Amino acid sequence: MAHPTHDVVIVGGGHNGLVAAAYLAKAGRSVILLERDDHLGGAAVSADAFDGVDARLSRYSYLVSLLPKRIIDELGLDLRLARRRYSSYTPNPADASVGLLVDHGDPGATRASFDRIGAGPVGTSPVGTGTDAAAWDAFYRDTAHLAAAIFPTMTEPLPTRSEARRLLGDDSVWEQFIERPIGESIRNRFSHDLVRGVVATDGLIGTFTSTDAATLDANRCLLYHVIGNGTGDWDVPIGGIGAVSGELEKAARDAGAHLVTGAEVISVSPDGEVHYRHRGDAQERSVDSRSVVGRRVLANVAPWVLQGLLGETGPETSVSVSNGSDPNGNDPNGTDPIARPEGAQVKVNLMLTRLPRLRDASVSPEAAFGGTFHINETLSQLEVAYEEATHGTIPAVLPCEIYCHSLTDPSILSPELAASGAHTLTVFALHSPSRWLTEENNDSYRGRLQAAVLASLDSVLAEPIENVLMTDAAGRPCIETKTTLDLEHALAMPGGNIFHGPLSWPFLEDDDPQRTAAERWGVATGHPRIYVCGAGARRGGGVSGIGGHNAAMAVLEGD
Ligand SMILES: Cc1cc2nc3c(=O)[nH]c(=O)nc-3n(C[C@H](O)[C@H](O)[C@H](O)COP(=O)(O)OP(=O)(O)OC[C@H]3O[C@@H](n4cnc5c(N)ncnc54)[C@H](O)[C@@H]3O)c2cc1C
Repeated sequence: MAHPTHDVVIVGGGHNGLVAAAYLAKAGRSVILLERDDHLGGAAVSADAFDGVDARLSRYSYLVSLLPKRIIDELGLDLRLARRRYSSYTPNPADASVGLLVDHGDPGATRASFDRIGAGPVGTSPVGTGTDAAAWDAFYRDTAHLAAAIFPTMTEPLPTRSEARRLLGDDSVWEQFIERPIGESIRNRFSHDLVRGVVATDGLIGTFTSTDAATLDANRCLLYHVIGNGTGDWDVPIGGIGAVSGELEKAARDAGAHLVTGAEVISVSPDGEVHYRHRGDAQERSVDSRSVVGRRVLANVAPWVLQGLLGETGPETSVSVSNGSDPNGNDPNGTDPIARPEGAQVKVNLMLTRLPRLRDASVSPEAAFGGTFHINETLSQLEVAYEEATHGTIPAVLPCEIYCHSLTDPSILSPELAASGAHTLTVFALHSPSRWLTEENNDSYRGRLQAAVLASLDSVLAEPIENVLMTDAAGRPCIETKTTLDLEHALAMPGGNIFHGPLSWPFLEDDDPQRTAAERWGVATGHPRIYVCGAGARRGGGVSGIGGHNAAMAVLEGD
């Protein structure tokens, strides 16, 4: 093995790589981080997306739930996360003049809203929703219980399945959320199709599945959406999501980590040698090949990408393993190559001159867009859309979630824009799998998916969204649509999968190996020197820093 140049080499400068760099440099390790892009933060960045429009949009990820307070405190991050008053608004697709508004600030109004959708002529429930209001409270009491038991373990060595079950101490909740497809519980506990859908979407964000699937992919996805910081609240990062990565970058630099941008890693060897191409600045236009050697190498890239960097993509190879299995929990024997991940969403950013009017006159646009605005996301619509997508067609009615950042945090707009009543809107549409897309058809799909998103949005508005679309300096509409393939190009997220691969349970199976620090922390690969430190680590998905924290702890424990 070549002589180590650094204690730790980190491949990729997403927010998780920055968390790992900060912890390790603070602990006195020599750290170099290599990022292919010309800036840091990966999917957690803000950007001026529209020419001549002075607004810093959270370009990809936008809300924060899973970033533990412990990481914020230990790294001394100066972050403000604002709690949203409104949790969600969901118009009834069959009659968009009524909808369900869940208002944390007014439980009475929330109850009345449940009653209103139940009373409407189009309620699909034979029972009405008076019972759904109570069922809602009971369901989220259960998730709060899960959150209180599971979330504190996320920044500790992994518990086993039996230990996690004991920590929860409630067999009924464990069965419903961990052992049985979550669709069962949702159907048993709620009667209205719309209410079922609002609950189900947390199981489908970034995950192409059905809530009834025996794989339990939707259960894992739902779990990560309801346990953040012990409450499951999704907060607004003041200043945009780029403020989170900005603080992490500062913490890493202040601690002495060497952060290199324009450095694309082209290979990693099991003994810690990392080759990369370094782009000089714009004037130099030079590209040189360099290498560094780490006692440990942390991969902030997706496990599937790491597999390629290790040259282990052939079918005959046995590659990255975590806890004796694939970091994403797919491979209990730890011998199969990692499958290429699949993403399934469309992301659309818009800039509006003002908020559009709603068909539902009883709810203000400020309330509806101030929380998560669900569009065409009843449970039956979600199922139909999944079926259609599985059969290769863009869903006729595309399920979407919309949110307006600037309502809670106008600081991302220039004072002039804010004063003019302008707003940002971010859309996350489901069930659009990356399997459809190729380099050749991507432009055409982008256009069709964007049209499907706008049609879905228009179905609940009292005016076409085009009425309120701002134009940029060149007179073009301010709308930016990213397919899964666009995300892969921009972020090197394979398949545009926002979690770097399928999510895994936040616990080990009882017979999983726990011999090494990396296995105990859920960051192991098949190579003792190489750990996963990003979303692809066990418990790593989302803007959480947990993958980075846990890889750093494994390095420090294993030293
Ligand atoms: C559209 C979208 C919306 C989302 N919304 C939310 C949300 O609201 N809340 C939430 O919690 N999560 C959200 N997520 C998920 C979340 O953003 C990600 O799971 C998380 O940011 C991943 O962070 P990471 O640091 O592990 O990896 P990444 O952010 O993917 O960073 C990996 C880094 O590695 C770099 N890299 C890749 N290959 C190489 C190479 N060969 N050499 C050097 N560098 C390389 C990349 O350029 C990138 O900077 C969203 C994701 C997307 C895409």
